[in-house]
Amino acid sequence: MVIDKNMFKMDYIEKLQTMFAEEAVDASPLHQYYALGALIKDYCAKPWIESNKEYAKNKGKQVYYFSMEFLVGRLLNSNLVNLGLKDICEQALHELGINLIEVEDIEADAGLGNGGLGRLAACFLDSMASTQVPGHGCGIRYKYGLFKQKIENGYQVEVPDNWLKNGNAWEIRKENKAVEVRFGGSVHLEDDKGITKVIHENYECVRAVPYDTPIKGYKNNTVNTLRLWSAETMEEDFDFSSFSQGNYVKAGENKYSAEAISQILYPDDSYEKGKLLRLKQEYFFVSAGLQSIIKNYKKKKISLLDFHKHVAVQINDTHPAVAVAELMRILMDTENLSWDDAWYVTTRTTAYTNHTIMAEALEKWPVDIFKKLLPRIYMIVEEINRRFCNEVYHRYNGDWSKVNNMSIIYDGYVRMAYLAIVGGHSVNGVAKLHTELLKHQELSDFYEFFPEKFNNQTNGITHRRWLLNSNVELAKLITETIGDSWIKTPNDLNKLIKYAKDSAFQEKTQIIKTNNKINFSNHVLSKYGASIDPSSIFDVHVKRMHSYKRQTLNVLHIMYLYNQILANPNIDMVPRTFIFGAKASPSYYIAKQTIKLINTLASKINNDPIVRGKIKILFLENYGVSLAEKIIPCADVSEQISTASKEASGTGNMKFMMNGAITIATLDGANVEIFDAVGKENIVLFGLTSQEVIEYYRNKTYNSYYMYNNDLRINTILNQLVNGFLETPKTEFAGLYESLLTNNDEYFVLKDFDAYVNAHNEIDRLFRQKAIWQQMSIINIAKSGIFSSDNTIKKYAKEIWDTPPVNIKL
Ligand SMILES: *Cc1c(COP(=O)(O)O)cnc(C)c1O
Repeated sequence: MVIDKNMFKMDYIEKLQTMFAEEAVDASPLHQYYALGALIKDYCAKPWIESNKEYAKNKGKQVYYFSMEFLVGRLLNSNLVNLGLKDICEQALHELGINLIEVEDIEADAGLGNGGLGRLAACFLDSMASTQVPGHGCGIRYKYGLFKQKIENGYQVEVPDNWLKNGNAWEIRKENKAVEVRFGGSVHLEDDKGITKVIHENYECVRAVPYDTPIKGYKNNTVNTLRLWSAETMEEDFDFSSFSQGNYVKAGENKYSAEAISQILYPDDSYEKGKLLRLKQEYFFVSAGLQSIIKNYKKKKISLLDFHKHVAVQINDTHPAVAVAELMRILMDTENLSWDDAWYVTTRTTAYTNHTIMAEALEKWPVDIFKKLLPRIYMIVEEINRRFCNEVYHRYNGDWSKVNNMSIIYDGYVRMAYLAIVGGHSVNGVAKLHTELLKHQELSDFYEFFPEKFNNQTNGITHRRWLLNSNVELAKLITETIGDSWIKTPNDLNKLIKYAKDSAFQEKTQIIKTNNKINFSNHVLSKYGASIDPSSIFDVHVKRMHSYKRQTLNVLHIMYLYNQILANPNIDMVPRTFIFGAKASPSYYIAKQTIKLINTLASKINNDPIVRGKIKILFLENYGVSLAEKIIPCADVSEQISTASKEASGTGNMKFMMNGAITIATLDGANVEIFDAVGKENIVLFGLTSQEVIEYYRNKTYNSYYMYNNDLRINTILNQLVNGFLETPKTEFAGLYESLLTNNDEYFVLKDFDAYVNAHNEIDRLFRQKAIWQQMSIINIAKSGIFSSDNTIKKYAKEIWDTPPVNIKL
């Protein structure tokens, strides 16, 4: 299908007519947006049908990426680009007097995730479709995504994210594909002529209705599916008798308990609370997803014993780990496979990705909650565990401590990571360092037991969203310089290395960066009334607010700089704009204090005439995908300063590098691999190594009071937190102060302070040397191709899923 500008225009005019009975000029921006979305969805329809037909007859394999979160952001622009229709659309709309950029701005972000983990899932969808991997997403259609953040008087205020308020242009409700998911009740086994039957009674039934979104590959015919499940009441559960007696509230009760399941995304990043509703959510989408996969599979009329040859299930963190037991249940209880056959298939189908080694984030469910909500699943987990513990016991000659350490059920809890490890064929970490830590520290018992299961899959980002679409001018320059092969083959960005020392090219990249900064400054001025200087260094720290990510270290450094300037107003420094963006989990006290601290410091510093023209602080409200797309192309400096060993990978680090920012980094997560790629000349490293951090935890010799008492800079700043210097009540930042002193600074902020100051001095020194800085920047861009999620997906497909590309013909 070749679509030219005139066809596009005609199609669009017709769409506006049929949908809204309006002509283009009269249509509201909302209608202009929906008509455009509908038209693009039409263009996806044919290849979507063909992809599904091909997959249905294909004897090959499909992969399903099970994830509690998909942080998709907007889709209009990326769909247009992937269809190859961006320019045509822009021109056609222009001729109709419509500005595409304004129309794009209408779309609500699909914010169905907290941060990196959810964004990874979204990048994977784009890369699976673009590399022709038959791979689909399976998750929850939350009615409310991650809260919207407002800043009031310096504090974070959470506002519900009613992203579906005006409808969703991309999804299609598939009423006929709904399935039932059962909760609670009681289970007993009955003997039916020698065959054991599982009888499940008095359960609560919830209807799971899928909404499908097409995932269009870049300039190919692949259209995969993101299937998100919505929870609804079963018709028969609606209590019509009380309804007819006029009791609306009672009639609606079941409805509310069912619909609560897909109502809201839990707003905690890397922290687990053990809430019943959360477990309900997890089982809900896992059960619905697996039921629909099995239904589809049975249409192919191949033996279920070959299921794993045609289906791969990737478990994104432990949230969908119950998939192991649910697949066992379906295969045994509804498909009548024996335990051994079901286990054979299950362990070859599922694979688990670990995202964290932080103890508080490793999911475990109290047995009483788990058993009550999922009685049959609990029976199966118990039996998996009984058999596994037996094996461990024999392998280690009756060593009970090994059995206790590895038992899936232990001390009143079900340990979900262990279930996923035992029940799958692959366990992967998300960066080299992280995988090594899993193998030799956190999961060392399992690595010893199943060494063959462990592998590394370093995270990635789709370079189409994060460079081609969000930094249009830089992408154009790259294509002019080395051709456009990098869009399909991201490692070709490496061809830019030749131009790193080329002063003409350096100048061009610098002008683009400056223009991005100017445009963003204008945007900030018009939207927030804040003025920032585009010629200053844009030093950007955007990510979830979390102690381990150490926004505090950044803030303390700014306080130190401020003190330096107050002491010496003529200090020689390149002007800096410190830009922050971060949401804190609503219940995370210290994280919220840090937001307040940044804003308090911002109003003090930004209004102090002594520092004018030297430092400025900007806190950007409501950090999310669309804001990230705006700010990352403007960054000169990328702050990736987590306590070494704590950040599993990070993906923000990759986005910044790809846009030519210089990283100031600890040797943590994928920063290590960025360092390996660009070399020590092209990154600014500082701080403790992961082994040093781990050693301090082990020998407990770190004492943060020592730092406080022996470093005057630290002493001054910490006192300023609580002595009224910040013109707030003295208790305002007491929690932060205590976390750094009384609680002995768990994340080594003070320990790394001196090294961080030096690293920033180095940044200042390098930035003054324009040619060197620009050369570093170009080398970062050139080396960033290896972090494209196209590469990550190809590696998963080869090493874990065994899913070769499928070419879709029209
Ligand atoms: C990439 C991304 C993240 C992850 O950032 P990290 O720095 O790796 O924590 C979080 N939120 C959004 C909106 C992102 O785009």
